[in-house]
Amino acid sequence: MTMLTITPDTVARYNRPGPRYTSYPTVPVWSKNFSEIDYIQTLTTLRQHAAEPLALYVHLPFCAERCHYCGCNATVTRRAPVVDGYLDRLEREMHLVTAHLGTGRRIVEMHWGGGTPNFLDAAQTRRLVALVRSLFDVAPNAELSVEVDPRIATYDQFALYRELGFRRVSLGVQDFDPAVQRAIGRLQPVEQTIASYTACRDLGFASINFDLVYGLPAQTEATFGDTLARVIELAPDRIATFSYAHVPWVKPNQKYVDITAMPDATTKLGLLDMAIEQLGAAGYTWIGLDHFALPDDELTIAQCERRLHRNFMGYTAQSTTNVLAFGMSGISDLANSYIQNDSKLGTYQKAIDAGHLPVVRGHHLSSDDVLRRHVINHLMCNLELPEHLTLPTCGATLSEMLPEAMERVEHYIDEGWLVREPGRLTVTMTGRFFLRNIAMEFDGYFQQQTETPIFSKTV
Ligand code: SF4
Repeated sequence: MTMLTITPDTVARYNRPGPRYTSYPTVPVWSKNFSEIDYIQTLTTLRQHAAEPLALYVHLPFCAERCHYCGCNATVTRRAPVVDGYLDRLEREMHLVTAHLGTGRRIVEMHWGGGTPNFLDAAQTRRLVALVRSLFDVAPNAELSVEVDPRIATYDQFALYRELGFRRVSLGVQDFDPAVQRAIGRLQPVEQTIASYTACRDLGFASINFDLVYGLPAQTEATFGDTLARVIELAPDRIATFSYAHVPWVKPNQKYVDITAMPDATTKLGLLDMAIEQLGAAGYTWIGLDHFALPDDELTIAQCERRLHRNFMGYTAQSTTNVLAFGMSGISDLANSYIQNDSKLGTYQKAIDAGHLPVVRGHHLSSDDVLRRHVINHLMCNLELPEHLTLPTCGATLSEMLPEAMERVEHYIDEGWLVREPGRLTVTMTGRFFLRNIAMEFDGYFQQQTETPIFSKTV
């Protein structure tokens, strides 16, 4: 076992609230006073750096029904006109943005997330791709990826994605066990997942990802071990293992999750350990915090070559740092600013109808934010704290720039989470379970944040 040295006492002591750091500073820190004018200024700044490529994120929030455990920004509907109306607003939003950014910007990555992007029918899917291609210059080798719910997927749908240039697909699996599926309100017979997976392989997708979730009700070592064995048998290129976040005060649908059936903090950590053990034995490389990939997958190669990046879409091998998001709740990361769109369908659409960018909050990064973001991203991707950073503007050491944080992490050497090596502190195997705790020491805003414990039932 990789976590033999982690005792329940250690879990209890370090089971603190903490973010996953897909951004720094994290969303709760951002200002609601960040306005449409701020967003327009950011786009205007970016326009002056026309050679910088972009990654696009498009949020497609629709689902046929709501799963109990869902933490996504999703909207339940069964009516196609609702989707058409949303696509109308996406079109207007893209025109509003490109009026300031300029058209024809190079796109090296595009991800469709949700909700359920494959809720769109063929005509709607074609319409959205045509819209993007009419306003942006999508590079021939761009990484186009889409999240798919196997419960409603068809072979023709996957064939259409391939025809339109999508090369990566992420299948929502969560857990194969029927009791767990009943407990989370998402019945997905294993045959449906296999049918989707087989279709993707037949059609030659470059990379197939499975999303798994641990810490769900009714999940035990036996059930999760069985799920992992089935996953290994299928051999997807990538696997993401997400920790279930139980936040019913934010996501009311989660009140249907039976909290008494959820694994406790130590068991939950044991499930992650089991994934590391079984997937490692099957040849997968553990990437950063919670991803696994086969040796020939680009994510593994990027980690080996130390060019892994982290953004709102998770870990990526793409080098662009500018992410432009469209749709309700979309988050852009542009020119050292974060911008979030309205996360409610009605008000998002209302803002667009009135001719406004639907901004609800944002943040301009200070030089201190940029430094801390760089350190946290480097830690989450490369599992080390180097003495010298690769920031172009700094000649000082990390200890000179962030002395208090570097003093605090000394404690983690005693815990066995970090080891001193020439020119760096390196995260140990045990330390990887506490990567977020180490990252939190570099978070200048952490005291202001109120998030949920890392390993407890409430995550
Ligand atoms: S978990 Fe996925 S499919 Fe279920 S409601 Fe949420 S976004 Fe929709």
